[in-house]
Amino acid sequence: MSLIDIKNLSVTYFLGKSNEVRALSDANLEINAGELVIFFGPSGCGKSTLLYTIAGLEKPTQGTVMVNGIDLSQMKNKELEKYRQNTIGMIFQAFYLIPSLSVENNINLPQVAIGINRKKRQEKTEELMKYFGVYEQRKKVPTELSGGQQQRVAICRSLVNDPDIIFADEPVGNLDSKSAQDVLGLIQELSVKDKKTVILVTHNPAHLEIADRIFFIKDGKIIDTKVNKETRKIIVGKSSQQESKDDSLNLSPVTNKTTTKENDNSAEVDNIILEYKAKEILSEVLTGLSYDEINKIENYIKEALVNSNSDYKKLTTYLNTDYMQDGLNLNKRVSQKLITKLETTTKEIEELSKEFTNKEEKHNSYVHQLRRYLLDTFEVNIRTTDAIEAMETIIEDRVMGVTDRKGVQEKFDRPLKKGGVGLDKRTAKKMAKHLEMIILGRYQKSSDKQKIKK
Ligand code: ADP
Ligand code: MG
Repeated sequence: MSLIDIKNLSVTYFLGKSNEVRALSDANLEINAGELVIFFGPSGCGKSTLLYTIAGLEKPTQGTVMVNGIDLSQMKNKELEKYRQNTIGMIFQAFYLIPSLSVENNINLPQVAIGINRKKRQEKTEELMKYFGVYEQRKKVPTELSGGQQQRVAICRSLVNDPDIIFADEPVGNLDSKSAQDVLGLIQELSVKDKKTVILVTHNPAHLEIADRIFFIKDGKIIDTKVNKETRKIIVGKSSQQESKDDSLNLSPVTNKTTTKENDNSAEVDNIILEYKAKEILSEVLTGLSYDEINKIENYIKEALVNSNSDYKKLTTYLNTDYMQDGLNLNKRVSQKLITKLETTTKEIEELSKEFTNKEEKHNSYVHQLRRYLLDTFEVNIRTTDAIEAMETIIEDRVMGVTDRKGVQEKFDRPLKKGGVGLDKRTAKKMAKHLEMIILGRYQKSSDKQKIKK
């Protein structure tokens, strides 16, 4: 019996509607345990649809997908959830790492979800990070890593619950050719060394040589298959960036899969999941957007800032474009409000930093200037040296990134005797905001533009 057995599988999106799309028609295929197969074909031919249907993320319109002899459509929700958490691992082109979590916690997350205790989790995560050469990066957030490194992290994450089947949807589509070869090698290694079953989706013919078997797909149909087993090229082998000396990865499960819950410490409040949830909820409440969508918007803002004319046209297009064309399809009124707010804020930042620059006294320190400027602008008189010193310390802390805007506001407001400046609440709040904007304007004007661009 094959590990995966697909019979007469069809998937139609918007069934019966005027915009009906027949993404997959009558596909028949079997995949054996330990094989590395490739779904190959042009963009839009149905590769991802086939992959997601096997992963249980998409439902067949007709036909069946059997994995390990079990029909996915007969699985109850709980079973399907278990299947996704324990049997399969997914790697995507877009990585889908959570931007606010460190590398380490991104990899930890799937284990948290199935209730693995902290110690075992940490062991497994460390082993994977070392093996895939991202251990040195463990405390960083994803955007501080190169594309190749981010994909390595995503691979660690997909492996952390020791899945039998790895699905990789255009996993190297966003990488330069060197990193792409690197990551492909690692993926092939999962099949050759660790005996995982790997299904790789690609539209790049250069990748075909690493597969045991290739399914050629066109217009939703499997039009050909090719066996490569004897002739395939082995590109496995450790890449130069890897830090580990081990040459095989012991992918034994961290826990017995039949007893996934291990409530070793049920009172333990899990920070990772909490942090994740809090951010998810907040972004949902504020905008209803997902992490990846917010990330995309952030990038458009960065781009607009780099192009100094603060042109939000591209962002506007993204917000208004239809979902199917990879846009956000935001309500016009909402998107207009967002753009207007962005434009006003950006202008405000520019104005303030211009005003500040004009008043700059050449011989005084930046912190000193900021302090004088703020007191000037808000027509506040503070006379004691203690208060002046306190204020400069607070400004310096903010400039150095030791505190945030809230912290500044709180200390501006705090009584002199307790180390604050002793301003009234409203002034403290306004000043903190003003300071923030000048600092932002500074970053935007200076050589940091280059940094933003990268
Ligand atoms: P590939 O991965 O080969 O590029 P896909 O499986 O993503 O192809 O898409 C196959 C077809 O199904 C395309 O015409 C695509 O526009 C359509 N399609 C894919 N996903 C969806 C969806 N969630 N809803 C509606 N149509 C979809
Ligand atoms: Mg696709």
